[in-house]
Amino acid sequence: AKEEKLKRISESIRAFPDFPTKGILFRDICPILKDPKSLAAVIDLFEEYVRQNHQDVGMIVGLDARGFLFGPLLAQRLGIGFALVRKRGKLPGPTVSVAYDLEYGKAEAEIQEDAVAPGQKVVLIDDLLATGGTLNAACELMKKQQAHVLGCLVVVEMKDLNGADKLKPHTVFSLVQY
Ligand code: AMP
Repeated sequence: AKEEKLKRISESIRAFPDFPTKGILFRDICPILKDPKSLAAVIDLFEEYVRQNHQDVGMIVGLDARGFLFGPLLAQRLGIGFALVRKRGKLPGPTVSVAYDLEYGKAEAEIQEDAVAPGQKVVLIDDLLATGGTLNAACELMKKQQAHVLGCLVVVEMKDLNGADKLKPHTVFSLVQY
């Protein structure tokens, strides 16, 4: 059943060369959302992994923007809350931020000060791991807020870019690898 789910998910990921800039092979996960069985398969596999490996997780933290598509569904399955790490300037009230480099460009990640509690155990989620800059910035935000990162989840991992190394000692669980 697991193999069927993974097959369905990988068949729902498209590649677009030279988007958003020349030299980037963009992996588009939108077809996953178009196919309810594929989306359910993603959440099933993440749920199974988190239940087996991070039983004491207290909060799912999703990354702007495609981490928001999967994170709340997973959090609901697990019966826990969801918090947003956004690009700078989107969140009201007191926030904390961290600057970082992207595979294409620069950015700043921000979270509301009260989004996670000190000592809280969190699992981070995004659609894709490339260089690891984005998830690494989110890990730094968690550190600033004294939350404990149990691990990171992504639908797609671009192995060649070694993002998982950058995130060490944090672990990365991915469903599809290129
Ligand atoms: P990185 O910080 O380099 O790991 O990049 C990860 C972030 O950028 C994720 O939020 C992805 O949605 C996006 N991203 C980076 N590279 C790609 C790619 N080749 N295809 C789709 N999204 C990407």
